[in-house]
Amino acid sequence: MHHKNGDIRRVNVNIAATTVENYKKLKDAGIGTYILFQETYNKKSYLELHPTGPKHDYDYHTEAMDRAMQGGIDDVGLGVLFGLEGYDYEFAGLLMHAEHLEAVQGVGPHTISVPRVKHADDIDPNVFDNSLSDELFKKIIACIRIAVPYTGMIISTREGEKVRGEALELGISQISGASRTSVGGYTEKERPHDSEQFDVSDQRSLDEVVNWLMQCGHIPSFCTACYREGRTGDRFMSLCKSGQILNCCHPNALMTLTEYLEDYASEDTRALGYKVIEEELKKIPNEKVRAIAGENINYIKNSDRRDFRF
Ligand code: SF4
Repeated sequence: MHHKNGDIRRVNVNIAATTVENYKKLKDAGIGTYILFQETYNKKSYLELHPTGPKHDYDYHTEAMDRAMQGGIDDVGLGVLFGLEGYDYEFAGLLMHAEHLEAVQGVGPHTISVPRVKHADDIDPNVFDNSLSDELFKKIIACIRIAVPYTGMIISTREGEKVRGEALELGISQISGASRTSVGGYTEKERPHDSEQFDVSDQRSLDEVVNWLMQCGHIPSFCTACYREGRTGDRFMSLCKSGQILNCCHPNALMTLTEYLEDYASEDTRALGYKVIEEELKKIPNEKVRAIAGENINYIKNSDRRDFRF
């Protein structure tokens, strides 16, 4: 997919449970991660919440990731909507699902998302008496991080700036910015509210989020290298579990951040970003990698060349 400043390099797909044949089609189309949230692992509640319709079959929904992997997709993303049922049941279900995928398919989840019930036009969190306090929510994030250390953890703009900032310190590794949850939302200049799937609590622009992340001491990374280098599934997992992946993540983060700074950032964010990059480059332990990363960053700054990666 082409954009004036380069190509969209990875498209993750979040669609309802489907057949092995359809997952094969998605794989052939070159998708990145296939994401499907369980909503609730509690079968009784699940069936009450889906009395009819295509999602009614609990087993079909719950076994979707197995079919996706049988169809050749080796990066899958799990998630449960905390707040529908008791958190302890959901927490155990989520970890058992991760354990099952690793044991049966040989690869655990690529990502775990942690949505919780929040306000939307047609959802009143007060009618769900299982809603989580911020403190409990953060404890769950920390426990998932400890239990599944190799997995990317995602927090969305459903959560506000404060909770997102705290969650980043507890194990969240991926964070969205400037999300729109309404149909066709990205084509509108202003955020349309009428068809939103849920309330977006963090309404900052992407530039504001990137700037804030750097002020918090993080390196915003737009890296998609693993998927494009074929480091997916069990190959990715072994690099992740041994910690060797950091040798790629760190320089790739600095190079993709440079692309963002050059092509999209405000002046303020660009100035801060280059300070961060200068300091972080010094921390790359391997001399050769450090030199190549520095050279590539100069190419990005001074030419149209993009898409360097380790
Ligand atoms: S190199 Fe690191 S940041 Fe880049 S895609 Fe792989 S795991 Fe993600």
